[in-house]
Amino acid sequence: MTKRVAVIGAGPSGLAQLRAFQSAAQKGAEIPEIVCFEKQSNWGGLWNYTWRTGVDENGEPVHCSMYRYLWSNGPKEGLEFADYSFEEHFGKQIASYPPRAVLFDYIEGRVKKADVRKWIRFSSVIRWVEYDADKGDFEITVHDMENDRVYKERFDNVIVASGHFSSPNVPEYPGFAQFNGRIIHAHDFRDAREFSGKDVLVVGASYSAEDIGSQCWKYGAKSITSCYRSAPMGFDWPENWDEKPALEKVEGKTVYFKDGTTKDVDAIILCTGYKHYFPFLPDDLRLKTANVLATADLYKGVVYNPNPKMFYLGMQDQWYTFNMFDAQAWYVRDIILGRIDLPDAATMAADVEARVAAEAKNETDNDCIVYQGEYVKELIADTDYPSFDVDAANEAFFQWKKHKKQGIMTFRNNAYVSPITGTLAPAHHTPWKDALDDSMDAYLQN
Ligand code: FAD
Ligand code: NAP
Ligand code: MG
Repeated sequence: MTKRVAVIGAGPSGLAQLRAFQSAAQKGAEIPEIVCFEKQSNWGGLWNYTWRTGVDENGEPVHCSMYRYLWSNGPKEGLEFADYSFEEHFGKQIASYPPRAVLFDYIEGRVKKADVRKWIRFSSVIRWVEYDADKGDFEITVHDMENDRVYKERFDNVIVASGHFSSPNVPEYPGFAQFNGRIIHAHDFRDAREFSGKDVLVVGASYSAEDIGSQCWKYGAKSITSCYRSAPMGFDWPENWDEKPALEKVEGKTVYFKDGTTKDVDAIILCTGYKHYFPFLPDDLRLKTANVLATADLYKGVVYNPNPKMFYLGMQDQWYTFNMFDAQAWYVRDIILGRIDLPDAATMAADVEARVAAEAKNETDNDCIVYQGEYVKELIADTDYPSFDVDAANEAFFQWKKHKKQGIMTFRNNAYVSPITGTLAPAHHTPWKDALDDSMDAYLQN
């Protein structure tokens, strides 16, 4: 009987998995039956924008954490697919920090070409997964929202690609319940124009804090105050942006910081990160890990050690994204196709320990970039994923870090060399701070 493989999620990771199997089939391999379950009505994962917040049209938690006017926060040269370049998709080289709609189009272009949409069941929420030790397979419970029908099916392998930047981590500070303004988490932030003319506090010191604060600044907020728990972001902020130490409490509209200073604000945006959250998995199958580069319990960063018939994609913290998901998906495919053998349990556990120890040695962001780049190299060496110049991708990331230090509101005006085609991107026609229209048409204009 043909093997059956379930893929949970049709975001960049799940789609990489579909493309990996399709590419093997195209080269003549016999592949299992692949069924991908996606709870949204379209593919693209976080890149599939919705205005909705809270629950979706089916009453399920909204997956999207992206917002209008979001542009890539890293250079596109760091994420380019090795089997499908930007030039192939757009017919020309494009500028280095595309808005969300442009990247969505690029993600979609590859899987349209591969013709894998037929493998996806949309509006299908995975409710539960259970391993049957007697039969050696999995039973999956699915809620088909279009027909409002719950059913079960069996699979030989399960690949979890449900993402980990969707369930918000929401702290509470004294006085929040009485705050005379709006408090939201980054997950529910949609349109910076809502905050124009306002004094905004962003809590957190990572990518969401930096970018949501920058969006609010770009679209006319009166002032931005950001506050950090561990270390400041430390950029050279515009004059109406203040960076403060930790938030302590709120009274009325006044927020109090650890250094004794205060500020009156209209809105608080909690940019406090996300949780790995898998409500559809029992204890014996559920990954429990922090948001780090060397995830707990995953051999080669993908095989779930307690049950190696189960795989996880994209669960690491991410410098590399799309091409790392590809490297992982090709590797998982080759395990399932029997092209790569898994070692014994002790070796698999030792692999995780070694990755954790190596990550602990990283001191700088550049060390982390190199670390994850090496991981990508390690995986692609064992499969037929087209090898690409990972060192050149690292270099684009190093330049990006440098350009951010030089100007946090200007770094997106820079251009980098593609590690896939070797071409230098053109400079964008408009500086990021003046480019208010984030549509694909506006971006691709010459
Ligand atoms: P996701 O994109 O999260 O996709 C997971 C999919 O699984 C979703 O479609 C979801 O609906 C589905 N799913 C979840 N649960 C179920 C279920 N129970 N049943 C069925 N389906 C389910 N990366 C970059 O490279 N550049 C950027 O500029 C960038 N910007 C980002 C901005 C924000 C605000 C965030 C939060 C992340 C950003 N990222 C960026 C990182 C992002 O994680 C990756 O780009 C990518 O989307 C991860 O892909 P994924 O497929 O692993 O997860
Ligand atoms: P993150 O990187 O996990 O950072 C979480 C931040 O919240 C950290 O600064 C953390 O501080 C802080 N924090 C957590 N709990 C807190 C608490 N109780 N009180 C105060 N601070 C707290 O999460 P993220 O910034 O949301 O980024 C998630 C992903 O989205 C990343 O992959 C990022 O690249 C992506 N993203 C991209 C864009 C874009 O422009 N394209 C925009 C936004 C996000 P500590 O350091 O003290 O733990
Ligand atoms: Mg190779």
